[in-house]
Amino acid sequence: MAEKFVYFFSSENPEGKKEMKELLGGKGANLAEMCTLGLPIPAGFTISTQVCDLYYKNNRQYPEGLQEQIDDKLAMLEKTANKKLGDSNDPLLVSVRSGAAVSMPGMMDTVLNLGLNDESVKGLAKKSGERFAYDSYRRFIQMFANVVLELDHDKFEHILEEKKKSLNIKSDLELNVDDLKEIVKSYKEEVKKNTGEDFPQDPKDQLLKSINAVFGSWNNPRAIKYRALNNIEGLMGTAVNVQAMVFGNMGDDCATGVAFTRNPSTGENKFYGEFLINAQGEDVVAGIRTPQEITIEGSKKWAKDNGISEEERKEKYTSLEEFMPEAYQELVKNYQKLENHYKDMQDLEFTIERNKLYILQTRNGKRTGAAAIKIAVDLVNEGLITKEEAVMRVAPEQLDQLLHPNIDPKVEYKVLAKGLPASPGAAVGKIVFTAEKAEKLAEKGEKLILVRKETSPEDIGGMDAAQGILTATGGMTSHAAVVARGMGKCCVAGCSDVVVKSDDLCTIAGKDFKEGDYITINGTKGEVIDGQLELVLPEISGNFSKFMSWVDENRKLIVRTNADTPKDSEVARNFGAEGIGLCRTEHMFFEGDRIDAVREMILAENLEDREKALDKILPMQKQDFVGIFTAMESLPVTIRLLDPPLHEFLPHTDEEIKELADKIGVKPEILKEKSESLHEFNPMLGHRGCRLAVTYPEIAVMQTKAIIGAALEVQEKGIKVLPEIMIPLTGTYQEFNYLKKIICEVSDKMIKEKGASLKYMVGTMIEIPRATLVADKIAKEAEFFSFGTNDLTQMTFGYSRDDAGVFLPEYLEKGILPKDPFQVLDQEGVGQLVELGVKRGRETRPELKVGICGEHGGEPSSVAFCHKIGMNYVSCSPYRVPIARLAAAQANLKDKK
Ligand code: ADP
Ligand code: MG
Ligand code: MG
Repeated sequence: MAEKFVYFFSSENPEGKKEMKELLGGKGANLAEMCTLGLPIPAGFTISTQVCDLYYKNNRQYPEGLQEQIDDKLAMLEKTANKKLGDSNDPLLVSVRSGAAVSMPGMMDTVLNLGLNDESVKGLAKKSGERFAYDSYRRFIQMFANVVLELDHDKFEHILEEKKKSLNIKSDLELNVDDLKEIVKSYKEEVKKNTGEDFPQDPKDQLLKSINAVFGSWNNPRAIKYRALNNIEGLMGTAVNVQAMVFGNMGDDCATGVAFTRNPSTGENKFYGEFLINAQGEDVVAGIRTPQEITIEGSKKWAKDNGISEEERKEKYTSLEEFMPEAYQELVKNYQKLENHYKDMQDLEFTIERNKLYILQTRNGKRTGAAAIKIAVDLVNEGLITKEEAVMRVAPEQLDQLLHPNIDPKVEYKVLAKGLPASPGAAVGKIVFTAEKAEKLAEKGEKLILVRKETSPEDIGGMDAAQGILTATGGMTSHAAVVARGMGKCCVAGCSDVVVKSDDLCTIAGKDFKEGDYITINGTKGEVIDGQLELVLPEISGNFSKFMSWVDENRKLIVRTNADTPKDSEVARNFGAEGIGLCRTEHMFFEGDRIDAVREMILAENLEDREKALDKILPMQKQDFVGIFTAMESLPVTIRLLDPPLHEFLPHTDEEIKELADKIGVKPEILKEKSESLHEFNPMLGHRGCRLAVTYPEIAVMQTKAIIGAALEVQEKGIKVLPEIMIPLTGTYQEFNYLKKIICEVSDKMIKEKGASLKYMVGTMIEIPRATLVADKIAKEAEFFSFGTNDLTQMTFGYSRDDAGVFLPEYLEKGILPKDPFQVLDQEGVGQLVELGVKRGRETRPELKVGICGEHGGEPSSVAFCHKIGMNYVSCSPYRVPIARLAAAQANLKDKK
């Protein structure tokens, strides 16, 4: 028997189910599942993602037998619907919809109202009214021309606008049958003019071309970009769903809408959604008309926020609950069924045709980080899911949003304009009006607010680059709102006081704003504020702490932080850090007037002078450690000895050199010479790290004294300290042993003199490829390893992060590198070295403590890797600690499965 490529779905005959997402795409699998559940779903069939895969593998050729299967299922659909495609009495119309295993909202194409031609439109007119029929035909030509024939949408919009202008009307709804017939005629002429061919009249031809276009849209630039941005990999492609049309645009007893079973911004357990009366599908998402709220409660709140009276609300902005009570009740019944079945918040699309409800799509709804946590905790409390399941429900990166700024509540400010609170958090930045410009300026490190009339899928690059997004039109389910929530970006949508005048000017509440002017937006409340406000971080409590306690119950990896100051240490502890994995000492060398002593040390001509200078630094450095040990009470603190090449501490410009020379009484020329002799061409390599300490052991001695001295002092106060001294950049075990001996001699002497007992460890950073290979030898003396994956990545790849910035984007686009190896630990190469280092190290020292202190320690997939290879801990920046905790728990739970 031939392979099965096409799957039917109807209430009598659903051939798919929700577990078949990989093959049928999320949309197709869920449509079939909903048929099984007995929900009102228009029948149809799904062409599998495997066909998409084969299509591309086979040079855009379909597999054999596909055509027969499509014909076969189409015949089944015609039978189920009791209508025929292209029929001149009562034609079947279908939609052709994309849908991959992972939802990519708006990224791929959809064609609606397919099956209309000059004959069938008459049949539709007979059956359902002339105006409706010609309006549908017009919509179909426009969509087909755009999606399939790749003609510019604007060409058709223009014809429509011109027609309305000539008739002196504003709304599409005022167009009568004759107007629409003329528009259809002009549309067809436009198609002919641009393609040289007539608009295709054969419905089967229309269908096949649309299927091609949907498969083709899998690889359109915006879909590719979306997948790259969201790390979506390894899918077979999109499925194509061909489904009988239902109509939300037949009159005032029809509607279409989008709903969330819980609030996607806050997670509150309240049904939430928007709809348009007498409209078709994409009108809601496109943000063309401002949609109305589904529930009475939501509608009243909306009216209040917008200063609209109850009378006016009832008349113009009534809720679905009031306007179509029966269909509304049906919708409620269905959404509850869906939530109980999927055990998660659902995002649904529905259409009401002559008061009869149809569900067109369901999927697990995208939500903000705050909502994700609230929903997960609530679902556990409601007994729908277990704590472990709850832990798996929140994407680690989503926590980032919760740890991100809001407007300082203590600051009073004036609100310039109000829009919808589309995605929470606050952002401050310079206004930019195009996505392109945003991407450009962001590369230079600018903080930006992207201001648009509305956004479309082409804008995602710019949305990603901006700190926040402000739109003039569109609702809570508009493109801008949905995408921003997914990205965890603050967004204020539908702010009607914003008028975008050009690519460098807008007015907000009447005031002019040019590109580069500062504004602040508050996505939690929907506010726009003139100028720059102070932002603060939210407090961590309630659901968040509860959720994180479940996270901690389920992880094995310890999470430490990279912190150089008592303040950072404290922040990190509040975020749940269980120690410091990397305390860099060089930062301390720059503070205040210390740098002078440091420079004196560097410029000293002999040991005596150097020690004199070091003696000045010692008490200051010791004080730093006292602060850190105190803040990290009873938790381990890894302190890395001086790492960078010395020239980094010397002045660079002639002016600075002269100033310093005068200060310390040497000739500027001599200072300059010294600076040049110290300069490392490749600052990554050369005379730095442990090599520096081998040449100048007195530096290591001073630092050891500071560390052990501080530890003894703090311990004396009854505070438990666990110092771990880390030697940077070890390449040979001889280097390590040489320095360890010095460190231990100094430490042991101090401890003995004090008559105290203090446990300390000496270990090393593994960041040179050679070290991973001789890890067994290094581990003879080293008590712990900490993988410095930033440097290890640079040395393994042979380029630095800065170099990467130049060519990586191009590499990524060409698919030469899957991900930026400085952000996501490259498991193929760097990861192998790390794994080998761990393995060899533990061969000689089974109890060797191993961690990672590169920035990868806070990146979820890298954390999972560290868990897999049996590390003891990861260490990351303070704000990423909760993310690493969650990633560690998820890696462990996935293991158990
Ligand atoms: P997307 O994946 O971009 O959301 P969809 O395939 O869901 O695209 O189609 C977009 C919209 O088109 C839907 O929300 C729905 O309103 C409308 N639509 C799709 N199929 C049908 C149908 N069979 N009948 C009526 N409307 C439809
Ligand atoms: Mg959809
Ligand atoms: Mg390093």
